[in-house]
Amino acid sequence: MPISGSEIVKMLPGKRPCKDCGFPTCFAFAMKLASGGTTVDKCPYLSEEVKDKLLDALAPPIKLVTVGSGENSVKIGNEEVIYRHEKTFVHPPGIALLISDKEDKVKIEDKIKKLKELQFPWVGVNLEADLLALNFESGDKDKFLALVKKAYDATDLGMVLISEDMDALFAARDICADKHPLIYPITKENIDEAIPKIKENLTPVGLRGKSVEALIPLTNKLKDAGIEEIVLDPGSKNLLEAIRDQTFIRKAALKQGFKPLGYPTIGFPCFLAKDGLKEKLVGSALLNKWAGIIVFSDFDQYSLLPLLVQRLNIYTDPRFPMAVEEKYYEVGEPDEYSPVLVTSNWALTYFLVSSAVEATKVPAYVCVKDAEGLGVLTAWAAGKFSGDSVGTFIKKCGIEDKVKHRKLIIPGKVARIKGELEDALDLKWEIIMGPRETTGIGAFLPGFAKQLKG
Ligand code: SF4
Repeated sequence: MPISGSEIVKMLPGKRPCKDCGFPTCFAFAMKLASGGTTVDKCPYLSEEVKDKLLDALAPPIKLVTVGSGENSVKIGNEEVIYRHEKTFVHPPGIALLISDKEDKVKIEDKIKKLKELQFPWVGVNLEADLLALNFESGDKDKFLALVKKAYDATDLGMVLISEDMDALFAARDICADKHPLIYPITKENIDEAIPKIKENLTPVGLRGKSVEALIPLTNKLKDAGIEEIVLDPGSKNLLEAIRDQTFIRKAALKQGFKPLGYPTIGFPCFLAKDGLKEKLVGSALLNKWAGIIVFSDFDQYSLLPLLVQRLNIYTDPRFPMAVEEKYYEVGEPDEYSPVLVTSNWALTYFLVSSAVEATKVPAYVCVKDAEGLGVLTAWAAGKFSGDSVGTFIKKCGIEDKVKHRKLIIPGKVARIKGELEDALDLKWEIIMGPRETTGIGAFLPGFAKQLKG
């Protein structure tokens, strides 16, 4: 449970009002601290003990863990709510593809290639899987290390290293430590031996228990040893147990503020289901039930895309419509006599318009006006796509330097802005009524482009 401002203020020294923190009173500082707007170190009069207490109380209820490095890193955890309708989920789970060192060379290469190539452009974002999970099954340590080296050289993706053999696990970790791999599993049986080795080269640790309860002393032990990046596996043996365990962990962390379970989790549909379809269904359930990393034995475009779209839907903040940047976009290779269309910046509107233009094979400019992510008609009704504002945008976006003509196509649905827009553009542009729907662009644009050239 997050600490409140009134609880914080009781812990402050109450020098009145020294203002050294930049706030007029201790109370104002406390309220800002509780909402994350300032930091504990801004008050110079806190004892070390109070500082530690405050830092602990203000830490996110689910620890942020980063697997991988650079732009391919996957951040999981740091969530604040149990259900998305309460606020929003912030860190989408990493989707991992499992490769066993028992698989033959061709299969291994195929899987690495597949992971790199399976990418789906989707309304302005690129949907793809994120991680490789490398599993030591062969019993031949050299074979496992060769697999890790191969994956390390072939891709920049983050890795989950899976080995019951501690020597092999830490040797693999040392090969790819700069990519911040998750090492798994650390268990009750190997934790004492593992802690000094983990600390030699700190990377995230996957903790496996026989139950949720069994994880608690293990997380405490790692935390006492200064190991903070922990991912939990409660050892669920089937879908029912997995849902129960994920729910228990999430609620203990977020509702009770129970720190020993305040870490993201990992789920293994690859080990919980025997056939491919069931595995994807288990994975889909884990996506709904808050798993931080989900490992699949295999996938193709047909099974991966629905999972990626499901993840996108859950982790997209519904309060903020998906929007594209305000500017003019080139479709094809337009020249100074190419048509100019204007539309709003709701991502779906932009992609429908630009796809329809592209389908005509007529090179054109699509000017996208910032309307706070609203579709054209809604934006107009909300005053965000008025003639005045569209005119101001057209003048400043640079399109006037790109074309010699002055004919601007507006969506037919907002024909009523024509007069105001002409005035806003100082009567220098002729406003052309485009189709009411994007489906009409195919019939409209080629003929219009011909007139322009002629
Ligand atoms: Fe209070 Fe500390 Fe701010 Fe001074 S610096 S007003 S003691 S919170």
